[in-house]
Amino acid sequence: MFSERRVLILGGTAEARALAALLVDQPATRVISSLAGRVADPRLPVGEVRVGGFGGASGLARWLTTHRIDAVVDATHPYAARMRAAAVDAAATAGVAHLRLERPGWTAQQGDRWHRVPDVDAAARMLPRLGRRVLLTTGRQSISAFLPLTGLWILARVVDAPAEPIPAHVRLLRSRGPYTLEGELELMRTHRIDVLVTKDSGGPLTEAKLAAARRLELPVLMIERPAPVASSTAVATVEEAMDWLSALPTQPG
Ligand code: NAP
Repeated sequence: MFSERRVLILGGTAEARALAALLVDQPATRVISSLAGRVADPRLPVGEVRVGGFGGASGLARWLTTHRIDAVVDATHPYAARMRAAAVDAAATAGVAHLRLERPGWTAQQGDRWHRVPDVDAAARMLPRLGRRVLLTTGRQSISAFLPLTGLWILARVVDAPAEPIPAHVRLLRSRGPYTLEGELELMRTHRIDVLVTKDSGGPLTEAKLAAARRLELPVLMIERPAPVASSTAVATVEEAMDWLSALPTQPG
């Protein structure tokens, strides 16, 4: 009897796109990638794509059942904490296999001056003690925590402009990686940056800012990842996710 695996990839990352690219060529596999729809001009994965929230864990559970999904691979960004928790709950409710694909964080090297803080608010509190001219790379959604810091000059690098009004001490730089060491050095030197604020996103695409900060001996405020969700099976690479998927039983079509 014909059977196929139906896989939902919760995306928005390079890993999610790489996994979709491998799965579209797999026999007897239907893959659907899901994006939140936050970015105006997203990098689209190959294959079938749906866009927009599901309506919390219960909405996602319904969606999984309606679309007869066999497996959810949550490859959302390490800081997408709500989606991550909802995916675990929804998969359990719908009786669907669940895997978390999350790239490892960065590792400090000799010469790094990292200050780890638990969240964005802690970063905003510590920032005035570390520098005056800030490269802020934590994204549009966390920018509001830094807007009251009027004693600082902040270069905020974002993919899309935030909705809120931007005060005079903050300059927006709209751009999207990947970035090079030369480019990051030039940016930091041109704007006389003396402190970098970043999430611990991991991966090679945005890592050059850390090498540039090391080279320029700048302090780095590193916002820690949200705590992992208990009961989640997790892997760190696309290859491991493929192995996990290939071990899953297929359902009758
Ligand atoms: P979040 O706070 O965990 O999620 C907020 C809501 O957005 C979720 O409750 C869900 O809405 C919807 N959502 C999130 N990811 C989705 C997906 N892949 N498909 C459909 N709906 C999704 O997530 P976030 O931090 O805003 O991230 C949103 C997206 O941007 C994710 O795809 C993530 O991978 C990507 N991204 C995030 C960051 C970051 O720093 N947070 C960086 C790069 C890329 P419902 O409750 O209605 O289902």
